[in-house]
Amino acid sequence: MLEGRTGPWEIVIGLEIHAQVTSNSKLFSGAATQFGAAPNTQVSLVDAAMPGMLPVINEICVAQAVRTGLALGAKINLHSVFARKNYFYPDLPAGYQISQYEEPIVGEGEAIIDLPGDVTKTVGIERLHLEQDAGKSMHDQHPTRSYIDLNRAGVALMEIVSRPDMRSAEEAAAYVTKMRSILRYVGSCDGNMQEGSMRCDVNVSVRRPGAELGTRCEIKNVNSIRFLRQAIEYEARRQIEVIEDGGTIPQQTRLFDAGKGETRSMRSKEEAHDYRYFPDPDLLPLTLTPEFIEAQRLALPELPDARKARLVAEYGLSTYDAGVLVAERETAGFFEEVARGRDAKLVANWVMSELFGRLNKAGKDLMESPVSAKSLGGLIDLIADNTISGPIAKKVFDEMFETGREAADIVEEKGLRQVTDTGAIEPIIDQVMAENADKVAEYRSGKDKLFGFFVGQVMRASQGKANPAMVNDLLRKKLAG
Ligand code: ADP
Ligand code: MG
Repeated sequence: MLEGRTGPWEIVIGLEIHAQVTSNSKLFSGAATQFGAAPNTQVSLVDAAMPGMLPVINEICVAQAVRTGLALGAKINLHSVFARKNYFYPDLPAGYQISQYEEPIVGEGEAIIDLPGDVTKTVGIERLHLEQDAGKSMHDQHPTRSYIDLNRAGVALMEIVSRPDMRSAEEAAAYVTKMRSILRYVGSCDGNMQEGSMRCDVNVSVRRPGAELGTRCEIKNVNSIRFLRQAIEYEARRQIEVIEDGGTIPQQTRLFDAGKGETRSMRSKEEAHDYRYFPDPDLLPLTLTPEFIEAQRLALPELPDARKARLVAEYGLSTYDAGVLVAERETAGFFEEVARGRDAKLVANWVMSELFGRLNKAGKDLMESPVSAKSLGGLIDLIADNTISGPIAKKVFDEMFETGREAADIVEEKGLRQVTDTGAIEPIIDQVMAENADKVAEYRSGKDKLFGFFVGQVMRASQGKANPAMVNDLLRKKLAG
C-alpha cells in the first residue's frame, strides 16, 4: 500500500518473464546458442530467413518447456500451435516472430513466493509459451551505420506470464527470485540476468484498495532485480500523481532508464490484432503424448519448496535457514553432503556464516570455494570430537580457505589440539593466579564477576588451546581456595 495525497493506493503487478531455454541449438534450427560468440557466427539459413527455408522443431526445447510447466504445477497441453506474430524490425529478418498465441504449450499453474517472516504467497501463472528470440541491433560500432548480430535470432525463449497477483515491489522481487531458482533446479534456463538469459516485462497499475483493476503500463526488458524494484516504485508513484492531479493513465509500453531511475513512454500499447497473428503454415500443430509428459515428470529433480520442507523435517533447520540453503541447488547439495552423519545445526552455521561470509568477501561463488564439502566436514569433525575449540576452528578455517589444505594437517602441523589434560592446564591456572594475587583476593572477598577475567587470562595463556569447560571447572575449584 502506498500513501498518496488523497489517501491510500494499492499497487497491482503482473510479470512476463522471458527465459532463454537451455539447449545447444535453436528452437527451429541447428545453429549453436553459445553466449559471447563472435557476431553472426551462429546463424543458419533458417535464422537468416532465407526464402524457402523450413523450420524444424527442436525436441529438447519442447521437453524443457514441459519440464518447467510441470515444476509450476501447470496444465500441459497435448495440442499447441505455433503462430506468426508479424512486425517489422531490422533484427527480425523474417518480418515475423514464431510464437504461440491462442494455444500455448503450458496452461495455468502457480508459484509459491517466500516473503519476510516465513510468510508465503501463491502467485498464479496464466500460461507459458515457446517463442523465438530476435537478433540484436548494434548502434555503437560505427559512426554512421548500425550493425545487426543474428546470433540470438531463433534462440528458444519461454515466456512465462503471471496473473496480476503481486502487490508490492518486494513481492515482485520475491517472484522473480523464486522463478529463477525453479528454472535453475529444472535446468531449463540458467537464470543469468546479466547475460540477458532472463529478463522481464513488468505490468504495473494502481487502484484504491478493493476497487476494480486500473489501467496498466508495461515496462519492457527489465534485467535485474534491483531495477525491477526501482521501476515498480517509480512507476506506481508516477501513476498515483497523474491520477491525483485529475489525469488518467493511458495504456502504454514504457522503458526503464536505469541511469535516471525513471520510466518513460516508448509507445502506446499495441493490441494483439495489430500483429495479425495466424498459425504458421510451415509448422504442424505440436502434439505431445501423455507418455512423453510422464517421462519428463519422472526426470524432474526435487524442487526448492519440497527440498526446503525436507531440510526442515530431516535436519531440524529453521525455515529461514532452509530457505537460504535451497535457493541454489548447489548450495543445498553442498550442505547435505557436509551434514550427512553430522550435527546439522553446527553444519548449517558453518556453511552459512563462515563459508558464505568468506566467499562473499572474496567475491567467489560456491563452485569456486577453496574448501570442499569433504574438507569442511573434516574440520567440523575435529570440533565435534573436541580435538579443537571453536575459536581455534575459525583460525584453522581461515588457513584452509587461504591454502586449500585439510583441517587435520593444519592442526597437527601447528600443534593446535585442544588441551584436555588437567596436568597441563593446572600450572597455567597457578601462574595466572600468582600473577594476579590482588584479584584473587578480591574474588575471594565476594567479587564473583572477576571469574570471567580469570577464564580469559587462562585461555589467552594457553593460546586458546585449553578446553574451556575444563578451565572453568579447575578455576572454580582453585579460586575457592
Ligand atoms: P499483453 O500480451 O498485451 O502484454 P497479457 O494479457 O499477456 O497482455 O498480460 C500481460 C500481463 O499483464 C500479465 O502478466 C497480467 O498479469 C498483467 N496485467 C493484466 N492486467 C493488469 C493490471 N490491471 N495491472 C497490472 N498488471 C496487469
Ligand atoms: Mg506482453
